[in-house]
Formats: sequence, C-alpha cells, structure tokens
Amino acid sequence: MTHDDLIAQLTSLCGAKYVLSDPSEMAPHLTDWRGHYSGQAIAVVKPGSTEEVAAIVKLANQERVAIVPQGGNTSLCGGATPDQSGNTLVLSMARMDRIRHFDRPSQSITVEAGCILESIQQAAEKEGLIFPLNFGSRGTCRIGGNLSTNAGGLNVLRYGNTRALCLGLEVVTATGEVMDLLSPLKKDNTGYDLKNLFIGAEGTLGVITAATMQLFPEPKAMATAWAGVRDINAAIDLLQRAQAISGGNVIAFELMPKSIIDNVRRHYPDVAEPLENVPPFSALIEIASTAEADAQPDEAGQMPLTLQMEELLASAFEDELINDATIAANAPVAVRQAKQAIRTGMDMGLAAGLAFEIEAYNRTVTTADRREGVLAFNEKRKAVFTGE
Ligand SMILES: Cc1cc2nc3c(=O)[nH]c(=O)nc-3n(C[C@H](O)[C@H](O)[C@H](O)COP(=O)(O)OP(=O)(O)OC[C@H]3O[C@@H](n4cnc5c(N)ncnc54)[C@H](O)[C@@H]3O)c2cc1C
Repeated sequence: MTHDDLIAQLTSLCGAKYVLSDPSEMAPHLTDWRGHYSGQAIAVVKPGSTEEVAAIVKLANQERVAIVPQGGNTSLCGGATPDQSGNTLVLSMARMDRIRHFDRPSQSITVEAGCILESIQQAAEKEGLIFPLNFGSRGTCRIGGNLSTNAGGLNVLRYGNTRALCLGLEVVTATGEVMDLLSPLKKDNTGYDLKNLFIGAEGTLGVITAATMQLFPEPKAMATAWAGVRDINAAIDLLQRAQAISGGNVIAFELMPKSIIDNVRRHYPDVAEPLENVPPFSALIEIASTAEADAQPDEAGQMPLTLQMEELLASAFEDELINDATIAANAPVAVRQAKQAIRTGMDMGLAAGLAFEIEAYNRTVTTADRREGVLAFNEKRKAVFTGE
C-alpha cells in the first residue's frame, strides 16, 4: 500500500478533518516541546474513539507502519516525536478528551486518554476532591502521556507518581485488540496486574485510550515554609523531621540551588525574594491535613499546622540545618494560588518567591547568635500569628 493509499484508508476511518498530511499542519506534532527533536511522518491521525484507535493500529500493523502516540507533546525526552524515516504515523489523542464517569463511592474518575491534566483537576474540584498530579505543563499535557511517562511532579512525596494514582486502564494493544482493564477497585488482587506494564512504557506496548484515576479529599489546612538549608544532607534531615513532626503529612518538599533563584532574579528582577540573602540551597516545604480539626485555631489562636511548621523550623535552626526561614500559613486559597504561580514559573526555570508576599516574615540567624536567634524567631512568629 502506498502512503497515499494509507492516508485514504485513514480518512475513511476517521474523516478527512482528522487526518493531517500537509507539512504545515503536521509541523507542531513533529517537533518536541523544547525544539530539541524533530522528525517526519506519513500523517498525523486524530481518532475520536477507542474503536477508531483499534482500527488505526490494526491497519498500521498490517502495513508495518510505526505509530508514535502523542498526548500534549510536552515530554522532554523525544518520546512523542517521530524519527526521520518518514514511515511513521503520529497518533494524536487530542480529540479523546472526555470525562466518562465520576464514581463517588470509590472517589475515582474515568477519563479518556486525551483528557488534559488540568481538566481532571477541575472536575475533581467540582466534586470537592483533588487530583494531586501537578506540574507546570498541566494545562497542555494529557493523562495518557502522564501515564505513559509515569510522570511525577510536585506532590509525589505524599501521593506517588502517576502509576500510584491509577486504578485501571483501557488499552489498545499493538495488534489492535482492546483490553478493558478499567476498574475503580483499589484492593484488586486478581492475578497479574497488566495495567502496570503499560504505565511508563511510552507507548511501546500499546495505546492507552482511557484510565480510571484515584481522587483524594481536599486538604482543609496547609502550612508552607521556605527555608535556607545548609547543604543537601541537611535537607534530607529536614525532610525526615518534617515527616515525623507532621505525621507523614508533607505534601511537597522541593530543594532548589542558588543558581535557580539567581536565574529567576535575572529574568524577573521584580519577583520578591523569600529570604534576605539567597542561601546555597532553598527548600519549599509544605504540610497539609485533610482533617477539619486541623483547620480550627487552638485556644491561643494558633493553627495546628502552623505550630508544627514552627516546631520544625525551630528545631532545624537549633541544629543548624537551616539558617533562615519564612512561613506562609493559614491562607490556603491564597497560598495555593501563589504556590501554583511559583511552581509554574519554577518548572520553566523562571520564578520563585511569590507565595511569601502573603503573611510572611523573615529572620536571618547567624551562627554566632543562633540561640538568641531561635528565641527571637519564636517571639517574632508569635507576634505575627497572634497579630501583636
Ligand atoms: C513546563 C513543564 C513542566 C514539567 N514538569 C514535569 C514534572 O514535574 N514531572 C514530570 O514527570 N514531567 C514533567 N514534565 C514533562 C511532561 O509534561 C510530562 O512527562 C507529561 O506527563 C507528558 O504528557 P504529554 O501528554 O505531553 O505526553 P507526550 O509528550 O505527548 O508523550 C509522552 C510519551 O508518552 C507516549 N504517549 C502519549 N500518550 C500516549 C497514550 N495515550 N498511550 C500510549 N503512549 C502515549 C508518547 O509516545 C511519548 O513516548 C514537564 C514538562 C513541561 C513542559
């Protein structure tokens, strides 16, 4: 079969509108996000259903034509870019972006593989839940791509990689058969766990067409801190302490070298610096609780998670793990918005520090006055949080 014949067959399967063979129309699909890789393709096909995916894969298998599945094309290792052979079909999942089903009892959602990550987050929020997978490309990347790269992101410490969030899959195998492995069941011990073969496989074993993903209760309280950390070993110690003090409630811990902050400052001189002097390493620490009780202040007006964060920072000061810190706490919505801005920027190597314009305070403690510094630190934070 010639390439023209193949395009004609694909057109009869999906409709002319969804088979792109014009070079200018194909171009965005033939180069990766950073412009590091580019390739050639016979066509870019955009199926609208699992049945269409199966028919395309069968046809390609029969004609010995390679397929490169593509979600949002935001991955950074070239896996979504065809090679230079010109004997490849790019299978764009962009049209398969529907939410199939929300299941309240299991707190899960079943979506098509082309569903944009941010759409799943928004659908979860409408139900008072969260989908915790999160990173800078969330408005463009698609769940099939997230699963195929087993993406990590910002909340991995608490919720795990995409694999850990997946309860079930629907897959079209390389021979065009549909495997229905969709299930909302968490405790599933029925034999082989085939779905895990396809997660992280970058499309080498089949095309993911739908997935059932686990949702979680929304955090009711949060405390976020930014600390100047002595070195990497100190950061590891700090993380362990944070886990212990918060009862395993650390949802984010991100370590950034000074070079990243300097880079941000170079491009965005107006961005507020979280700390007075940029330390060799900065850590963004976030703890969160889904318990309503943690969202209520105690008799002294202190929020439980703020106290935990203060306890963490005070002990870390004392043991010289950190030499500076600032807290943004008890403003979950504002913190979440600002944090999102930080993270989006940081992912792109651009921004830092925005969250700390909210209810923040700074205190630099030198080695010489450490003991006094800890005391002053405690006094100052008391003043900030009691409004004195
Ligand atoms: C600003 C930015 C921040 C990022 N931050 C992170 C981060 O924190 N953590 C992280 O892990 N990654 C991160 N990434 C990388 C990227 O966003 C993720 O890897 C994302 O999961 C890719 O999804 P995608 O839909 O764009 O996949 P694509 O790039 O389209 O595809 C990725 C791979 O999966 C395959 N594939 C896609 N869809 C399917 C499917 N339905 N079935 C089978 N195979 C398929 C492709 O062939 C390719 O091999 C970031 C990228 C950017 C641009």
